[in-house]
Amino acid sequence: MLANIRLWAAGLLALVCLLPNPCRPASAQQTTPIGEEPKPSTTDSGQPVLPERRTAKVPILVYHHLSQSVSEGSPALRRLTVTAEIFAQQMQYLQDNGYHVITFSALADYFDHGKELPTLPVIISFDDGWETQFEYALPGLEKYHYPATFFVVTDYIGHPGFITWPQLQTLLTDGMRIGSHSRSHPRLTKIKDTTKLWDQIHSSKTILESQLEISVEEFAYPYGAYNPTAAAAVKQAGYRAGRGCCSGIAHTSSDVFTLKAIMVPNDMEKFIEYIGAGSVRTARTEHGAVPPQPGSRNAPLDR
Ligand SMILES: [Zn+2]
Repeated sequence: MLANIRLWAAGLLALVCLLPNPCRPASAQQTTPIGEEPKPSTTDSGQPVLPERRTAKVPILVYHHLSQSVSEGSPALRRLTVTAEIFAQQMQYLQDNGYHVITFSALADYFDHGKELPTLPVIISFDDGWETQFEYALPGLEKYHYPATFFVVTDYIGHPGFITWPQLQTLLTDGMRIGSHSRSHPRLTKIKDTTKLWDQIHSSKTILESQLEISVEEFAYPYGAYNPTAAAAVKQAGYRAGRGCCSGIAHTSSDVFTLKAIMVPNDMEKFIEYIGAGSVRTARTEHGAVPPQPGSRNAPLDR
């Protein structure tokens, strides 16, 4: 049954493009309308108080599908798949080489408040909410007590091939974090209607918070695509961090809503190179998201 579901979901995945690429209650979220930037605080002399600029090298790993074998599914899917065996080796590598898995909130605390980061910090994240992540990644994460972040698309939750609400609760119980990956996985840069943009960014947050009784502080842009309007909306919706895609491991304070990331390859040598080498040679293929359309085999979005 599960294999059939995976194959069904895999069959939806067809197109891949190349891109250049916590805990605040819902009632306390900032809901400034899009386009209205909060005014900076000022000193007694009226001069604006600029936040301290900080930098950090933190690989932000992005996984999509996991499987027993990469031979399943389309070529596009295989490029987005890491096998359970390689995933386990990657988690072991982090453990053996002194990496410390941190959360997006910890990185935001560093940028916002100067709270110290551990040596060799790394963030682990999963996009789209594929059920294979729950099946194949969770055991390895639990083994090392790594607090990974699962970015889910709220409209996908519970559809065939995707994580269910009870599974999200299990992830939370096991120390994982849940972030938003929008409501329906559109390319936010193409949304001109600010109400629709706000719905994708803010409503997805409140849905997760009300259903799971948590605070959601992280947002991952579908396709890694953002523009200043989308990034401002993520900030205004009350998130503390926004993650883009595919462009390296070096971040500054000004990047906290447009963080770079690494698409994790199914290859240990490349994995080691990517997390240590910085931005130049990281994979640039963005993730494969499939809008859940039960009963339909429409070609999915995957860019
Ligand atoms: Zn996605």
